[in-house]
Amino acid sequence: MQLLSRLIPETSEGRRQLAVLAVLVAFAMVVVIVTSIVLAAIGQVARHANDLDDGRSQETTNGALQTFVWQLKATLNDYAAWDDAAQYVYAPDQQDWVISNIGDMTVNSDLFDTAFVVGLDRKVYMAYRHGKPLEETLDSYFSPAIATLFINASAPQSRAAPEAAGFVETRDGIAAAGVSLVRMKSGELSVPVRDQRYLVYARHLNEDKVRKLSDTYVIPGLRLVGPEVMSPYFAPIIDATGKLLAKLVWTSRVPGDASFEQARPLVLVAVGIVGCFFLGLLLLGVIAMRRLKEDETRAQKLAMEDRLSGLLNRSGFYAGLEKLIRTARDEKCSVFLLYLDLDGFKEVNDAYGHGTGDQLIRGVSAGLQVLVPPDAMLARIGGDEFAVAIATRQSEEVARKLGEVVLSFFAEPLVIGERVATVGASIGIAASPLGLVDCDEALRRADLAMYKAKENGRGRIFAYDPDMDADREEKNRIEIDLRRAIENGELTVAYQPVVRAIDCAIVGVEALVRWTRAGHGPVPPDSFIPVAETTGLIDALGMFVLRTACLQILEWPDLHVAINISPGQFRNPAFTVNVADVIRQTGVDPERITLEVTEGYFIQNPARARWTIDRLKAIGVKIALDDFGAGFSSVGYLRQFGFDRMKIDRSLVAAVHDSVKARDLLQATVAMARALDIPVTAEGIEEERQALALRSCGCDEMQGFHFGRPAPAAEIAALLSERGGRVIAA
Ligand code: C2E
Ligand code: CA
Ligand code: CA
Repeated sequence: MQLLSRLIPETSEGRRQLAVLAVLVAFAMVVVIVTSIVLAAIGQVARHANDLDDGRSQETTNGALQTFVWQLKATLNDYAAWDDAAQYVYAPDQQDWVISNIGDMTVNSDLFDTAFVVGLDRKVYMAYRHGKPLEETLDSYFSPAIATLFINASAPQSRAAPEAAGFVETRDGIAAAGVSLVRMKSGELSVPVRDQRYLVYARHLNEDKVRKLSDTYVIPGLRLVGPEVMSPYFAPIIDATGKLLAKLVWTSRVPGDASFEQARPLVLVAVGIVGCFFLGLLLLGVIAMRRLKEDETRAQKLAMEDRLSGLLNRSGFYAGLEKLIRTARDEKCSVFLLYLDLDGFKEVNDAYGHGTGDQLIRGVSAGLQVLVPPDAMLARIGGDEFAVAIATRQSEEVARKLGEVVLSFFAEPLVIGERVATVGASIGIAASPLGLVDCDEALRRADLAMYKAKENGRGRIFAYDPDMDADREEKNRIEIDLRRAIENGELTVAYQPVVRAIDCAIVGVEALVRWTRAGHGPVPPDSFIPVAETTGLIDALGMFVLRTACLQILEWPDLHVAINISPGQFRNPAFTVNVADVIRQTGVDPERITLEVTEGYFIQNPARARWTIDRLKAIGVKIALDDFGAGFSSVGYLRQFGFDRMKIDRSLVAAVHDSVKARDLLQATVAMARALDIPVTAEGIEEERQALALRSCGCDEMQGFHFGRPAPAAEIAALLSERGGRVIAA
């Protein structure tokens, strides 16, 4: 099982290759097996045909040898069982007849070439060979087998047919020989047994005769050889004593082999065709496989690539990072991860459309590619999120430096066609020292650090710190509780008086949300507003405050109300409609409502902000720039957006008595706003002298603990009725 699982490749491609290979091998095996079977069958048929033919040759040769003997025997019978012979052979004075009718017949006869006339005692009365007298006794001329034939012919049980024939060896070679009693045709003989004469004929199996046999019986290459010659195809020539005298051998015609030779090219051509077909299949298979592999690699690459930027995408980055961290573990170096989120991308997208947004992403990608070192891995892992991974033996400083370079890249506005967009970036850094922090965790940490950077005012670099986890958890808990608080109507609104500078009469209030978190006590807005911002709860929260303040102010007809609006709300395309709805539903005069916004959003997305402000102004509400002096404090924005009021930040007010310079700055700021016809509210006034200083600077309204802390509506109502709306003597 283990071996099997080791043999099966892990990738799907490997498995497919193996399957194709298996099919090809199986096919090749089938071709080989079928070919072998066909060839074996033909071979078998051929061998069978050969065997049949050899068998036939064997039988024919045996038959030919038998016939050879029989012919002699028949001839001998003609001469021996012959009335004339019975008369003349036994006559003492008829030797001439015997010689001319028997001896002379041995010349040029195909039937016999040697003739003896012998007595029972084997005394020779006549011996002729090829028509000439032969000076031989029977036993000197013939091998002992002749004696056996003689005995067979003369035995008492052979009386009916006193003849015997068989092969013998003679002085002249191998011959068929026969012994027969000379008698009347009827078989009668009046001669006493002791005087009986026998006729002995021999017919030599010479080369000529063998050739004739070969021709007559169609046995190719028939030859007479000695008994010692070994040959697979032979007919034995055995004499009457059972002695092997010689062999007739022939060459096998192997007709099967010939057929086989004839059929083989056909089979080979067929195999060739199948082989070619197979090779074609193989070729097609290889081509298809290669194409498939290419497609797969391409698809894999596409799956790893971000189409818009050409950079790696999230999965590509993840795969790369995993590998990088593994290598770092082996090579004992560290991996640093930079998570980069564009600030203000959404606004560009909203304002100019997706086409411009896409161009911006491409521009940023190209810029990053130049800035990031070549051995680092760069990816676009989300709409406006990028990530960089670097493996290095150096400290975190490398990552931080790279982050700074990237930030400085964003310091310049980006030109997209005819448009100019300002986007920033918030960067989170996390490390996997010696590759010990795994991919998921490193990504999570970088993401967390990036969020921290965003929260802390964007355009910043934050490195991961374990405290961030505790922070995140606390935020999660706050989110859960805040959501419930909004749903259960546990939020309240406090109102802080805003007084007229000249007589300190309450002319308005600022609505400030309050939350007493169950089990925790009051939570400052500074800590839960950002949570509401990042979780989308801000819309519900903001609308709650707006509605509550609008209803409240119906009871205070002489006051205006300031309501804080978060950038998150401002970004919501439905925001203006929602505001209009609340105003219509509550029936409040929109002129009495001022929406306070901070400049951050305007810097990021001027066009979109402009559009929203125009809409709000059309509804009739006023817009104030909050916290002026705390951030960029760009006067340009003041003018550009046509704010109805400016609120000077608490920090500027608090510093007013610290230095002459601070006071000058404050004075200049207020003077400038007034020059633009924008009234100014001073915030955070805690002391009488601050109030005096700001009044002399030209602020027409003031707000701060000095005049009154944010308080529940009932307290404000009491205040209004008690002192006629005047908080402090002017
Ligand atoms: P803000 O808009 O600048 O609001 C004024 C903050 O200054 C309030 O803090 C107020 O209590 C505090 N303050 C007023 N006078 C003095 C003073 O003399 N000395 C000092 N040290 N502080 C003074 P609060 O209520 O904690 O709110 C903090 C911030 O939370 C607000 O700053 C505002 O940005 C945000 N916020 C509060 N309520 C809401 C709301 O309903 N919606 C939104 N979006 N933001 C809110
Ligand atoms: Ca405010
Ligand atoms: Ca403020």
